[in-house]
Amino acid sequence: MNPLNQLTPSVRYPLVFQKILKWATSRSQSIAQRGAWLTPEATKLALKLGVKEPDKIRIYSAHDAMDIGDEALSRLLKKFGFSTSRTCGITLFHSIAMNPYCNSNLVVLAHELRHVAQFEACGSLEFYLNYYLMEVGYFGYGKGPLEVDAQLASTNNNNNNF
Ligand SMILES: [Zn+2]
Repeated sequence: MNPLNQLTPSVRYPLVFQKILKWATSRSQSIAQRGAWLTPEATKLALKLGVKEPDKIRIYSAHDAMDIGDEALSRLLKKFGFSTSRTCGITLFHSIAMNPYCNSNLVVLAHELRHVAQFEACGSLEFYLNYYLMEVGYFGYGKGPLEVDAQLASTNNNNNNF
């Protein structure tokens, strides 16, 4: 057996994982319906960051963008080290929720766009979340390879007036 399978959240915590996946699917759909399209400049940035289908991306940036909308799930995510009060963006495939109060929205946007490219490479919300949460459990929040990759990509774009 692949030893990584034993770390996979959908195997270790099937009920919890299904709850997270259900929330992520519904949040992703609601952002797809009411989010804004990328500007032409942001589209260029997305392509540069490896996004294949930037026209599918929608961004929802509002005071309630970071609300999980489910108390139990919110507490659960905190256990994973995920706190919405210090999170600037959440990406769920082509849907991005952004905290409008974050200082440097351009760096945040680049970071989230890189997550979109990662989602596209994975091919499904379920597969990505399973892998992402496995990394959080193993490396700690913000320290796994997917996060490090997004951080590096957004920092590299920091100096460019895309
Ligand atoms: Zn990230």
